[in-house]
Amino acid sequence: MKRVVVLGSTGSIGKQALEVCRLRGYEVVGLAAGKNLEALSRQIALWKPHLVAAEESLHAELKARFPGLRLATAEEVAALEAEVAVAAIPGLAGLAPTRMAVRTGKRVALANKEAMVAAGPLLWQEAEAHGAEILPVDSEHSALFQALLGERREDVAELILTASGGPFLREPEDLAQVTPEMALRHPRWRMGPKVTVDSATLFNKGLEVLEAKELFRFPLERVKVLIHPQAYVHGLVRFVDGSLKAQLGPTDMRLFIQYALTYPERAETPLKDLPIPGVLEFLEPDLKRFPALAVAYEAGRRGGLAQVAVSAADEVAVEAFLQGKIPFPRIPEILARVLEATPAEPLTWESLFAVDAWAREEAKRWA
Ligand code: NDP
Repeated sequence: MKRVVVLGSTGSIGKQALEVCRLRGYEVVGLAAGKNLEALSRQIALWKPHLVAAEESLHAELKARFPGLRLATAEEVAALEAEVAVAAIPGLAGLAPTRMAVRTGKRVALANKEAMVAAGPLLWQEAEAHGAEILPVDSEHSALFQALLGERREDVAELILTASGGPFLREPEDLAQVTPEMALRHPRWRMGPKVTVDSATLFNKGLEVLEAKELFRFPLERVKVLIHPQAYVHGLVRFVDGSLKAQLGPTDMRLFIQYALTYPERAETPLKDLPIPGVLEFLEPDLKRFPALAVAYEAGRRGGLAQVAVSAADEVAVEAFLQGKIPFPRIPEILARVLEATPAEPLTWESLFAVDAWAREEAKRWA
């Protein structure tokens, strides 16, 4: 039986990961969450994990509810003896536990794209040193991972990520009218607030382009995006002979989470009985309407700390938008301004955290 730790267990990915663990009969030995007391309590009661991480404000109440409970940091949970760690704490907060899971030689089922965007080369160094695997949970990257299986790297011409286009693909014409409520209503996926707003600006796709560049260690100029409103084809690989290979199937995150847990095996689910849609469209993204995607590409061209800076700035800009402090089109403007001011220094664990902190302050100034 596989032992699993779930980092970000009370979130959208975390809950679905636990559902997959339940279906597969895996043992969940550690949980890390933030401040959702009720959801975490239910999970502790069900899974009886060896170790739990939560915000300090929850500790007294958790101790009262579960007297024998061992509380720890998310990093300590990530270090538990287990075969797989699901890394689903968003943003840079998820980086230290993800790094710990890598350092302890686990398979990391990586949902937290910001960790790979900010620290890809550093995480790979650690993974190689400690014999860890990093497998994508993000549907597009899982799709590319699957399409690349059995292929020679030198035969790959392009990696193509698909994007549903989010709620504002065509309307409203004036994106300044977009409210937080509108941005949080994604037509296809139910996700956490940060990634949902990122999907509306297409910065999420930008982060995914950078994630693909780092995860597959592939040249940025050969990572492409196509808008695909049906969200049925999740990713395509174009080969040097012009052939295309795609992973397509139901739009259900549990499928991708499960594959990262069971790989190289596939486990049966009822989704296998769903019909295949009759129409599949593919369109070029409109970078004028969605400038955040262009900012992400520019950050990728600069590489290293530029990726750290735009990712950090985006967390601040999205938060400011959700609090009603800035209009929707201001998000990409802030990203562009922070990118322009980012120092060109080498990426190290130290410089990464310093630039992250600097970019947040810089973004707050513009927000
Ligand atoms: P959610 O906001 O739904 O969940 C976040 C989880 O992380 C919650 O369990 C939250 O705890 C916990 N958390 C937040 N901050 C901390 C912290 N500082 N320390 C410990 N735990 C913390 O996010 P999602 O599940 O949607 O996304 C998770 C990651 O996966 C993101 O990086 C996202 O980009 C990526 N992703 C998500 C997809 C999706 O379909 N949702 C698809 C592909 C990638 P609490 O709620 O208790 O405060």
